[in-house]
Amino acid sequence: MENKKAMSVKIPVGILGATGAVGQKFIKLLEDHPWFEITEVAASERTSGKLYGDAASWKQVTPIPAAIHNLEVKPCTPELKCRVVFSGLDANVAGPIEEDFARAGYIVLSNSKNHRLDEDVPLVIPEVNPDHLGLIPVQRQNRQSKGYIVTNSNCTTMFLAMALGPIHKAFKVEKVFMVSMQAVSGAGYPGVASLDILGNVIPYIGGEEEKVEIETRKILGTFNGKTIDLAEFPVSAQCNRVAVEDGHTESVSIKLAKKTTAAEIASLLENYIGVPQKLRLPSAPEKPYLVMEAQDRPQPRFDVNRHKGMATCVGRIRPCSIFDFKLTLMGHNTVRGAAGASILNAELLKAQGLLE
Ligand code: NAP
Repeated sequence: MENKKAMSVKIPVGILGATGAVGQKFIKLLEDHPWFEITEVAASERTSGKLYGDAASWKQVTPIPAAIHNLEVKPCTPELKCRVVFSGLDANVAGPIEEDFARAGYIVLSNSKNHRLDEDVPLVIPEVNPDHLGLIPVQRQNRQSKGYIVTNSNCTTMFLAMALGPIHKAFKVEKVFMVSMQAVSGAGYPGVASLDILGNVIPYIGGEEEKVEIETRKILGTFNGKTIDLAEFPVSAQCNRVAVEDGHTESVSIKLAKKTTAAEIASLLENYIGVPQKLRLPSAPEKPYLVMEAQDRPQPRFDVNRHKGMATCVGRIRPCSIFDFKLTLMGHNTVRGAAGASILNAELLKAQGLLE
């Protein structure tokens, strides 16, 4: 009985950048989480000291959870009463703050770009490269700290790297070309001015193409015991902002080393079960890939919340006259592409005994 009671105690967690778009999504997704409980919220000097309900310009469709409403917003210094922190910090400040927390012994799950490419920091998608968590002891050793940083990818990289994972393993990817149509929520709040985006397409998102091109190769790279050897194939990305609220869509062409068919690729993704599904992690989608047969799907309006926003929707798998195959991907950029990805990483860490 005693033992059962102890097992049910949730792990206290903090949110850095709790007032922002990603921070709010963490708060929403962690409401009623079976393993984690938010005990601390932290943000900038502008908002710290206020109650969360007064500090945040809340933009979620459900109200601020009652347990969070009256929490005091703390400064982002490593004096929070929890050992695990999720970071949705502005990339202008995330780098040193996340390092301070890790050095002080915290486990940091970061959404920001700052440490994704550090040689000793795992950039993880649990369905694709869970073995990259092997970098944690390397990082602890290099930095002489008990804490550590684990990152998740940029939101556009997420759906591309997720889809390429099983395909690369089975047929060896040789080249990738991707054009994205990215939702406005990816730019945070208030983000892109309505007069710039309504009835318009903006063919530039600062730094995005570079992130997709390199992060994809790190995620699909090989852990060599000390660092990650990047996957060898080149990725060419063209990123566009479009007038969609949530859901990034990607048109992808792929060249493969091994011969296959569109039907084989569809069946590979449809039947793929990853580590989070095997471990039944609480935030894992039942199936990581939702392969859609209708010629005009996926569409963000109808499909963005499928499998609670945690699946990558895949459609239009067909031959390509320049490369071998082309397909359309779509996923929820602030759920699977941001906060949901960090939470799934934390669940994997817990399942592997790495949150102790
Ligand atoms: P955001 O809405 O602008 O939120 C930024 C957060 O950082 C706010 O809580 C803000 O607190 C806090 N902050 C700013 N300056 C600070 C400082 N000096 N010290 C401590 N806290 C500070 O941004 P976002 O869209 O949520 O993005 C957050 C991070 O996630 C970024 O690195 C972004 O690139 C990444 N990301 C975003 C998405 C997405 O879809 N939006 C997807 C993947 C990754 P105050 O309210 O106090 O200013």
